[in-house]
Amino acid sequence: MNLHYQTNDKGHLAIGGADALDLAYEYGTPLYVIDEMRVRDNYRRVYKAFSGEYKKFQIFYAAKANTNLAVLRILEEEGSGIDAVSTGEIYTALLSGFQPERILYTGNNVKTPELEYAMQSGVRINVDSTSQLKRLLEVPGSEGLKISFRVNPLVGAGHHDHCITGGKLSKFGVMEEEAVRVYKLAQELGFNPVGLHTHIGSGILDPEPFKLAVQVLMDVAGRVHSEAGVNFEFIDFGGGLGIPYTPDEPLLEIKTFAKEIVGLFKDKLYQYDLGNPTMCIEPGRYLVGDASYLLTQVNTVKQSYRKFVGVDAGFNTLLRPTMYGSYHHILVADKPEAAPAGNVDVAGNICESGDLFARDRPLPEVKEGDILAIMNAGAYAFSMASHYNSRPLPGEVLVKEGQTDVIRERETFADLLSKQNLPRRLLK
Ligand SMILES: *Cc1c(COP(=O)(O)O)cnc(C)c1O
Repeated sequence: MNLHYQTNDKGHLAIGGADALDLAYEYGTPLYVIDEMRVRDNYRRVYKAFSGEYKKFQIFYAAKANTNLAVLRILEEEGSGIDAVSTGEIYTALLSGFQPERILYTGNNVKTPELEYAMQSGVRINVDSTSQLKRLLEVPGSEGLKISFRVNPLVGAGHHDHCITGGKLSKFGVMEEEAVRVYKLAQELGFNPVGLHTHIGSGILDPEPFKLAVQVLMDVAGRVHSEAGVNFEFIDFGGGLGIPYTPDEPLLEIKTFAKEIVGLFKDKLYQYDLGNPTMCIEPGRYLVGDASYLLTQVNTVKQSYRKFVGVDAGFNTLLRPTMYGSYHHILVADKPEAAPAGNVDVAGNICESGDLFARDRPLPEVKEGDILAIMNAGAYAFSMASHYNSRPLPGEVLVKEGQTDVIRERETFADLLSKQNLPRRLLK
């Protein structure tokens, strides 16, 4: 099995050297627990694989996967940059210590004030459309600005339709066939286009579509270089590196993957005489996905027309199963190795039938009070959490070598109402 977890001498699930049961009892559930060393190891594995093949290599961590300040600090320490998709992410990344030049802002359908914010903060701006380019022109100080373009290479891939961001149906980027034109336009408008970017989708375990996109993008780079005279400082292939969610899904062999991607990249650099621009990728899920667990307590075991195991988290806490039909492996924290005793539905506490973490899942015997650990809850988990059903957001704990720190406090009812105002006429 390719899912990664550890047990301790009691046979319990251990996260970063701490017993998952102790964490659940001490901090309460539902609780997100992040294993610091796993984030660092994931980063180092990717960095080493690529930089070993090509020296000028930079990772931009896709912050939307997990924007906790501690996670950002850890990755900043490791040397990562940030892929920010909103001004809120720029703000958060700056606050957590990233230098602006290590932040690449890839907005989508942005408003002009957002471009102003990005300009003023000094981050790199990656342009998604000619509309955005022309509005950037109106922003004070944008003259001569170094920019890049996001190009849709007509290749898409991903674990769900919602997560495919290249191809004819995708709203992202400029069309591949208009690339030369938009670079020329940028030059005419007085910009200095020096970067090229794409991102084809998320949750990719098969390297083939990614490789195809690299080739298409490099062909675009070649055309833009020869026809518009652009000398690229960086070429960014986006994120999408997948992780296994089910026990039998394959691992992305990162060393082989890096070798192949860099091989294609270098061939095309040579073919088109593109010099040696920095090669960038933007993994989100790969760095943080398997570094976190959602701990949740079983509060109800119920035999209805089906057998339900009811827990104290719901799709407000972890949306992926409901939103994408995603599989998340579930361990019983005090006996992760126990054999299945039967199939159950693991249901959340939200008032919707779609609020299921698992349907017909083989699980060991589970009783009320048990702690379940939902795996791979580090990416697109807390960052997609909501207040739906008026449930305060859970807390987050960071663990390293058995040392635990609360990095986000569990919300209270007051947090649910903190931004609401009653008009005077409705006051009682
Ligand atoms: C979401 C996103 C990523 C990261 O995707 P992962 O699948 O988490 O690696 C990278 N780049 C951009 C522009 C994104 O929007």
